[in-house]
Amino acid sequence: MDMQTSFLDRLFDAGLLIDTGVDGLYGRSGRFEDVIVAFERLIDRFGGADGAEAMRFPPGMNRAFFEKSGYMKSFPQLAGTVHSFCGNELDHMSLLKCMEVGEEDWTKDQKATDIVLTPAACYPLYPTVAKRGPVPAKGALYDLQSYCFRHEPSQDPARQQLFRMREYVCMGTETHVTDFRQSWMDRGVAMMKEVGLEVAIDVANDPFFGRAGKMLANNQRDQNLKFELLIPITSVAKPTACMSFNYHQDAFGTKWGLAMEDGSVAHTACVGFGLERIALALFHTHGLDVADWPESVRKTLWG
Ligand code: AMP
Ligand code: ZN
Repeated sequence: MDMQTSFLDRLFDAGLLIDTGVDGLYGRSGRFEDVIVAFERLIDRFGGADGAEAMRFPPGMNRAFFEKSGYMKSFPQLAGTVHSFCGNELDHMSLLKCMEVGEEDWTKDQKATDIVLTPAACYPLYPTVAKRGPVPAKGALYDLQSYCFRHEPSQDPARQQLFRMREYVCMGTETHVTDFRQSWMDRGVAMMKEVGLEVAIDVANDPFFGRAGKMLANNQRDQNLKFELLIPITSVAKPTACMSFNYHQDAFGTKWGLAMEDGSVAHTACVGFGLERIALALFHTHGLDVADWPESVRKTLWG
């Protein structure tokens, strides 16, 4: 049995995660959720005074916005669409028959709805802000949290298909948003230190699809557009990305028509916390029983 499976099994055995029969799709116990709630309070303590505008979107987004985002060009392998039955009574009868016989795929006649599963918490934000008009000269800051879907089934408990991302998104001038990103890299390290986690920050790239994607990934790395904060969860040698710090230059500003008051295109950056991964890093580092965690860590999280 490999290390990953055994950590997942230990999480199931301890009742922290609940097996659903699908890799990467888990229930969470109250004790697991307590850790996430406490960690989000810590995020608020570090970021609260910045005055970000909070918005919460459901884990599904407008399909038209998803299409415009270009997600299918970069990450078709990760996307999840919501399909529904849209037929008449006759169609319903043949659907039930198909399910009963089990030979044919009953989902083949399901039709795409106007909703796709949100791939990252910030995706619904850009079109929402674009509709409001120009970004103020002093910049704009948003606080988001959403369940996100990525089709990447795995027995690594840190690689889930439905997981929560807390994000801060900044829009403004290049200097404004790159300063924002740097300040959260510093804060991220400080926060993790307070909860007793060993971290490293490294340059990173997104898993762009296919051969053309390799070039995009290299470009992203060469230009230092993405950094990740890594913490050991299932492997000390290969620590897991628990936070990401992304600078989009003016790419999203151009795509969504995000203009500054002076007419220039807004630059954007986002900082994402992988909430399940952070909870898992805490359980991996300090043990599965929160009562046994170091006093200083408990105090930081629960006061
Ligand atoms: P990304 O947009 O890929 O940079 O993801 C933002 C953050 O979400 C990452 O830093 C991770 O902490 C978290 N994350 C990404 N993919 C997963 C996943 N499959 N399961 C759990 N957390 C994830
Ligand atoms: Zn984002």
